Amino acid sequence: MTDRIEAAINSNAGKKVLGALGVNAPTELRRYSPEQNTFFAGKLLLGASDNAQLLDSAATVIAQGEAQCSLTDSAKAQLGDGVSSAADSERYDALVFDGSGFSEARQLVQAYHFFHNNIRKLAPCGRIIILGRPHLHAATAEQAASQRALEGLSRSLAKECGARGSTAQLLTVAEGAEANMAAALRFFLSPKSAYITGQVVNISVAGNTDTVDWHKPLAGKIALVTGVSRGIGEAIAETLARDGATVVGLDVAPMEVDLARVMARINGKPLVADITSEDATQKICDAVTALGGIDMIVHNAGVTRDKTIANMSEQQWQLTLNINLAAAQQVTSALLQQDLIRNGGSIVGVSSMNGIGGQRGQTNYAASKAGVIGYVDFMSRDETLKAKGITVNAVAPGFIETAMTAAIPLMTRMFGRRLNSLSQGGLPLDVAEAIAFFGNPAARGVNGNTLRVCGQSWFGA
Ligand code: NAD
Repeated sequence: MTDRIEAAINSNAGKKVLGALGVNAPTELRRYSPEQNTFFAGKLLLGASDNAQLLDSAATVIAQGEAQCSLTDSAKAQLGDGVSSAADSERYDALVFDGSGFSEARQLVQAYHFFHNNIRKLAPCGRIIILGRPHLHAATAEQAASQRALEGLSRSLAKECGARGSTAQLLTVAEGAEANMAAALRFFLSPKSAYITGQVVNISVAGNTDTVDWHKPLAGKIALVTGVSRGIGEAIAETLARDGATVVGLDVAPMEVDLARVMARINGKPLVADITSEDATQKICDAVTALGGIDMIVHNAGVTRDKTIANMSEQQWQLTLNINLAAAQQVTSALLQQDLIRNGGSIVGVSSMNGIGGQRGQTNYAASKAGVIGYVDFMSRDETLKAKGITVNAVAPGFIETAMTAAIPLMTRMFGRRLNSLSQGGLPLDVAEAIAFFGNPAARGVNGNTLRVCGQSWFGA
C-alpha cells in the first residue's frame, strides 16, 4: 500500500500536485560511472586570496583532469606566466577558491567578491571547493578566526547551492601536506562525491603518495568488509572491487545465500561469521592470516533496535552496542596486535548522522555511532599507526535508501529524505564512494575524519 502511495507521489501527476504546493522535485544528482575516464571535465574558475599558499598545488591537480581552467586576476598574478588561463565563462562547473592566505577578518571580503560575482554562474550539480589551513595551526588568533570563518562560509554556500544539486566543501590542508591534497581535490570535484556537501575535510602530512593508478586505486589491495550481503555493505563491496580490490565479504549465517551472490558477482571471498560471536575474531584473523594480511577493513555491519530508553530492554541496548561498536573494536585490535593490517592500510568505521545529532528512540544506536567517531578520533592519533601510514576514518551516512530506511513509516520517510540541502535521500553507492576514497593510497593525508554522507542534513552539528 505504502509503495503505491509513494509511486503516485513520484508520478508526473503527483509531482505536479506537489509543485503546486511549493514542494519541487529535487535535482537529479550526477553520479560517477566507470566509463568516465577523468575526475573532472568542464569549466572551472580558480580564485585566491592574497598570499595564497595552496594555489600551485591545486592548479597542478586540476591540470591532471580535463578542466578548462580560468583564473581570477589574483590567481593569475600569483601563479605567474607559466600557468595558462582559459577565457572567462558565463557558466562554470566548479568554483575553487584558495583562502589559505587570510590572516585577518577584513581580508575575507576577497572571498565575498569571488563568490558574489560567480555563484550565479555555477552550473547545476556544480562543485565549490574552498581551500584553507587548519585554524588551530594559525600563528595568531586573528588568523585562526579568519581561517575558521571559511568553515561558516563553505557550509552556508552548500545550503545556498544545494537546491540545484551542487555541493560545497572546505579542505583544510596542514602546512607541508600540499602534496597530500590530490586525492581529496579529485574526489570532491568528481561526481563520486555527489551526495556529500557542507563538509570540512582535514588533510595532514603523510608519506609518499605518487604511485596510485587513479582508475584502479585499490589494485592489488585486499579489503575486508562486514555486513556485505545487502544495502550499503553490498555497495561498498562492489565499489571497492570496481576500484581494483579483492574483497573479503563477511556476513551472518542467515544471509549466506545473499553473501554468496554478492561475492560471486565481484569475485570476492565470502566469510560467514557473526561478529559478536565468541570465535568470530579468531575466525577473521585466521582468514586474514591465510591471505597474508589486508589493506583495508570496513566495519559496516550494524543494526538498530529502536525504543525510547524507558521502553528499551537491556538486551536491545547490549545487542546494538555490541554489533555496532564493541565487536568492531575487538576485531581491529586483534588484527593490529597480530600485525595483519599492512602498512599504508586503512580502517574505516560506519557511524551515522544520528550518532552526531542524536535521535529519539535511538539512544542505543546513537551511543554506538557516536562511539565510532570517538574511536576514530583517538586511533587516528596513534603514533604507531601513523608511522605505518595506516589511516582511521569514518563515514556518517544520513538518510540512505536501503532496507533499513524502507522500513520507516511512509510519511516520516517522505519527510526524512528531504531534510537536507540536496532535498533527497542518498544511495548506498554514495557511502561506498566515500569509503573507497578513504582507502585510496593517495589519501594517506586524510586521517581522523568523520565524513558525513548526508546531503548536509539539517540535523546534527
Ligand atoms: P542493513 O540492515 O541493510 O545491512 C546490515 C548488514 O549487516 C546486513 O547484511 C546484516 O546481516 C549485517 N550484520 C548485522 N549484524 C551482524 C553481525 N552481528 N555480524 C555480521 N554481520 C552483521 O543496513 P544498511 O542500511 O545497509 O546499513 C549499513 C551500515 O550503515 C550500518 O552500520 C548502519 O548503521 C549504517 N547507516 C545506515 C544508514 C541508512 O540510512 N541506511 C544511515 C546511517 C548509518
